[in-house]
Amino acid sequence: MTKRNMREKFEVKETVRFGRGLFAVRVIKKDERILEFTGPTISFEQALKKPSDKLSCPLQIGPKAYLDIQEPGVMVNHSCLPNAGIRDDKFLVAIEEIQSGEEIFYDYSTTMDEDLWTMTCLCKKSNCRETIRDFKYLSSDVQCKYLDLAIVQSFIGRKFFTLQNKKYNTSEPLSSFQQLCSLQDF
Ligand SMILES: [Zn+2]
Repeated sequence: MTKRNMREKFEVKETVRFGRGLFAVRVIKKDERILEFTGPTISFEQALKKPSDKLSCPLQIGPKAYLDIQEPGVMVNHSCLPNAGIRDDKFLVAIEEIQSGEEIFYDYSTTMDEDLWTMTCLCKKSNCRETIRDFKYLSSDVQCKYLDLAIVQSFIGRKFFTLQNKKYNTSEPLSSFQQLCSLQDF
């Protein structure tokens, strides 16, 4: 696919509540790639020094590694009920069919694991968590939904699975998220 084709899927526009955001300019099918997040890889210390504004929102890609993402990726807003997510650590994909004109969102908690940053959410969805925190603080229902959709950063998924295996300490280690998510008390 050419870059031009990728760009024709969306445009950056002013939103009512969140500054600029990313909007579909045609129907985007479920599982279709929307964009690749690009930018230099920076350390945790460098990420801490970034000003906290809309044009600076490093994307966590490892326990201490961040992508200092550039436009247009940095323009994608958060929602607690997203229509997109990040797969393979850096590709924004639709998790449902997105209509032309709709704003594109992902859930920032799917990329966060550092017990540092939080964000007040004004998405006003019925399931809004109001404060956006690390993946580990999501309810197990939401964690399973995102793991099943494969839209959790891979380092978070691995760490989460290791921790759950320790917690349940079954004779056979849990070998899949489906197995974990089917546990009654998870
Ligand atoms: Zn929200």
